[in-house]
Amino acid sequence: MSFKQLGLTEALLNAVAEQGYTTPTPVQQKTIPLILDGKDILAGAQTGTGKTASFTLPLLQRLAENIDLHQKPRRIRALILTPTRELTMQVYESVKTYGKYLPLHAEAVVGGASIGMQTRNLRRGCDIVVATPGRLIDHVQQRNINLSSVDILVLDEADRMLDMGFLPDIRRIMALLPKQRQSLLFSATVADAVKALAAQLLNQPVEVNVAKQNATADNVTEQIYGIGREYKRELLSYLIGSNNWKQVLVFVRTRHGADRLEKQLISDGIRTAALHGDKTQGARNKALESFKNGKVAVLVATDIAARGLDIDDLPHVVNFDLPQVPEDYVHRIGRTGRAGSSGIALSLVSPEDAYMLADIEKFLKRQIPRVADTGYEPVSLKVMDQPKKHAPNKTTGKKDFRHSKKTEPRKVKAGQGEQRKPQREQRRGKR
Ligand code: AMP
Repeated sequence: MSFKQLGLTEALLNAVAEQGYTTPTPVQQKTIPLILDGKDILAGAQTGTGKTASFTLPLLQRLAENIDLHQKPRRIRALILTPTRELTMQVYESVKTYGKYLPLHAEAVVGGASIGMQTRNLRRGCDIVVATPGRLIDHVQQRNINLSSVDILVLDEADRMLDMGFLPDIRRIMALLPKQRQSLLFSATVADAVKALAAQLLNQPVEVNVAKQNATADNVTEQIYGIGREYKRELLSYLIGSNNWKQVLVFVRTRHGADRLEKQLISDGIRTAALHGDKTQGARNKALESFKNGKVAVLVATDIAARGLDIDDLPHVVNFDLPQVPEDYVHRIGRTGRAGSSGIALSLVSPEDAYMLADIEKFLKRQIPRVADTGYEPVSLKVMDQPKKHAPNKTTGKKDFRHSKKTEPRKVKAGQGEQRKPQREQRRGKR
C-alpha cells in the first residue's frame, strides 16, 4: 500500500516523499483513512510505530481542506497535547515538516521557554497548537489563547499524561473546547485509566491497535546482564568502549543518578551528556542536540526526560537502572528498533533489583534472555534467593552488607575496551 492510496493530497505526498518514506507503517495504514473520514480514534500505538505521522498527516489535510485564508488572525483549529516538552517539540517539528507545502501555521507551547515570546506568537494567530497541558493552562489564564474554534483534538501518549498527573489539566482544557469536534487519542498502553479517559473524550471511537499490548518491537534484541551493582558502571563503560558504540541512550532512575553517571562516564573517557527534569530547557535542548549530531556518544536520561524522544535509528538502549513501572520498560525499549531498523536493548540488573525484573517479565508475559557470561562473577536474579538488604542474619545477628561493597573507579577510554579485557579476565580468575 502507498501513501497515495490512503487518500492524501499532493502537498502531503511530496512532504512525505522528501522524508524518504515509501510505505505507510501499519498504524498509518489503519488510522489515516479513518481520520480523513472524520472518525474519533482510540489508538494503541507505541513510539516508533510512525504514530506521529499517522495523526499529523490527516489532521493537516483536514485543516487545509477547510481553510479560510481571509480569516485574520487565524483561529486555532487543531490542538495537540503531549506529556513532555521534548515530545511537544518533536510533534511540532513533524507538523512543520509534513505541512511545509500547506498554508497552515503552527505554534509550540511548552514550559521552560519564554512565555512572552509564546504570547506574541499566539496573539498573531495560528491554525495548530502543540502544547504541554501546564503551559497551555497558563496561557488560558492569561487570556492569550482561545480554544473555542478547535475542530480537532489530539492527545498523544495519553497513558503517560495520566501517569504524570495531568488529568485535572486535561479536564480543564476539555471544558474550553467545542463539544462538536474530532478527537484522537494515542496511547502506548491502553489500560483502564486510558479507557475511562477515552470514554469521556471520544465520540463513538474506532479502536485501532497496532502493537500487541505489552509487546515490544520485534526487531529489538533484548538482553539481561545479571551483575553486582558496584560493577554496573564499569561494565557499561566496557561495553560502550569495546564495541565502539556511537549512540547509546542510558536510562537511570533519578536525576541525581543521571548527573553522577554522566560524570563517571566522562571520567572514563566517554563523551556523555545527561538529560533530566532539573535541567533548564536550554540545557536539555543542548544535550539532545549534541546526542543527535554525534558530539556525545551517550545520553543518560530519566524516564520522564526521555519520554517520546524521537531519535532516528537509535541502535542501543541500556537500562542502567530498571524502571519502577513495568510499562516503562516497553516505552524505553521503544527508543530502538524504530520503523524497521534493528536495535539492541540491554538491562544491567543487580540482585537487589531482581524483583523489578520479575514484575517486568510478568507484565510482558515472557522471559527476557540472560547473558550467560557477563565477564563478572555470576549473580542470582531469582527473587526468592535475595537476602534482605542490610537485614540481620538470623543465626549470627550481624547485618548483611554484601550489596553495599564499593570498588575503586577505573579509567577506560572509548575504543580501548579490548585492552581492558585481560584485566577483567584476570580479576575474574582471582575470585
Ligand atoms: P513515531 O512513532 O511517530 O515516533 O515515529 C518513529 C520514526 O519513524 C520517526 O523517526 C519517523 O520519522 C519514522 N517514520 C514515520 N513514518 C514512517 C514511514 N512510513 N516510513 C519510514 N519511517 C517512518
